[in-house]
Amino acid sequence: MSAHEAGSLHARGRVPAWLEVPADVNALLPALWPGSALKAADGVLRVGGMAATDIAAQVGTPAYVVDEDDFRARARAFADAFAAAFAPLAGARVHYAAKALISVGIARWLAEDGLAVDVCTGGELEIVRLGGIAPEAVAFHGSNQSDAELSRAMALGVGLIVIDSLAEIGQVARLAAAGDWRADVMLRCSIGIEAHTHEFIATAHEDQKFGLSAADGSVAEGVRRLAAEPRLRLRGLHSHIGSQIFDTDAFAQAVRRLAGLTAGIEREHGLRLAELGLGGGFGVAYTTGHDPLDPAAIAGQLARQVEAEFKAVGAGVPHVTVEPGRAVAGPAGLTLYTVGVVKPVALGGGFTRLYVSVDGGMSDNIRTALYGADYSATLASRRSSAPPRLARVVGKHCESGDIVVKDEYLPADIAAGDLLAVPVTGAYCHSMSSNYNSVPRPPVVGVKDGLATVLVRRETVDDLLARDLYA
Ligand SMILES: *Cc1c(COP(=O)(O)O)cnc(C)c1O
Repeated sequence: MSAHEAGSLHARGRVPAWLEVPADVNALLPALWPGSALKAADGVLRVGGMAATDIAAQVGTPAYVVDEDDFRARARAFADAFAAAFAPLAGARVHYAAKALISVGIARWLAEDGLAVDVCTGGELEIVRLGGIAPEAVAFHGSNQSDAELSRAMALGVGLIVIDSLAEIGQVARLAAAGDWRADVMLRCSIGIEAHTHEFIATAHEDQKFGLSAADGSVAEGVRRLAAEPRLRLRGLHSHIGSQIFDTDAFAQAVRRLAGLTAGIEREHGLRLAELGLGGGFGVAYTTGHDPLDPAAIAGQLARQVEAEFKAVGAGVPHVTVEPGRAVAGPAGLTLYTVGVVKPVALGGGFTRLYVSVDGGMSDNIRTALYGADYSATLASRRSSAPPRLARVVGKHCESGDIVVKDEYLPADIAAGDLLAVPVTGAYCHSMSSNYNSVPRPPVVGVKDGLATVLVRRETVDDLLARDLYA
């Protein structure tokens, strides 16, 4: 019975290798949940001292829930680890990558905890400014920035502008002259290393839009052009090699190439590049199939690599910035949904897939559709004594790719009205959310010490209609 319900006989070959039939389908999988998450004997998920049922009663579903203490602890763990590991060298600073998840309230947490922030648009810049992040603690980053965005960044006095193209050098210089501003800049380099999850490739060129190519001489040309711009001061090189990276060899290769590039520029131009940007991309566990490094291990490894590689090429060891986004926000967040239609779909060969529909979907989590991302899920509102059954969690959108969780074992009696929680949705879910099918976006709710605080309220149909000038 149990094996049949679990689908482990009939679904053989249709289950990802990393997905195991849980011994207790009510239990939270380790490492996927915020620090405060637990299930008591009643099976109700608790996070930040709040029962999932109470959160749902207060704010409705779907809802993004962020464990404030967990988010802040992760941000501080990065800041502390990099400060400690690079203290014997030239120091390091952690810029939280705002694009992962940001709101004014979250920016306030970061400001209180002394984090610097990386933003890539004028919108992100205004949010972190309103949250009290000092302009000098902001790095302004991005591709294809408008004059208005760059002017605003310089008028506020951001600490760094990371330049992404040769054209942007002329643009920033022209705007700086017009506004009588000066700017410290870094050059984002495309160094032929591209890393995602467990693999990286190292090539001469990278076929993507970001940065100046090291291989085709664009970096050297950028350095020459910057030297002729009295208002712009080149602080160093920057690279961001990808996201959801577990392969530390990818970072080691990046550091090696950046050290070589830096040494060449310093020799040729008689410059000292005192700053090095290593980007973000540190992986998190979305499922038990992932095994991320902790910030102290990452920082220690990068410090050893930076010291060794820069000394090897005779360049001064630079001050380092890193920009974790996902690794701070991802595991601190979860999404609460209410289950609706539960539909077994017979696929032949004796395999029936259980489709569990929730009241959100690809508009609040596009990562499964966009990247084929894996997620996990758990029943959050009660304890079940039913056996585990392989299920697929889908949304309410008019698209067959509207999948939230491709494969997960859920209690076989999962039913309409149950709450379902999907962990590790803190990063790139709210920030990438859309109004597809004119579905209003969920709220972002901070939880801490038994209290829920709405950071971003739920969108309403009236909000959607407010933009429709014929409504
Ligand atoms: C996206 C991005 C980051 C953050 O990446 P994570 O994978 O969230 O850590 C950092 N720096 C730059 C330049 C980025 O584009």
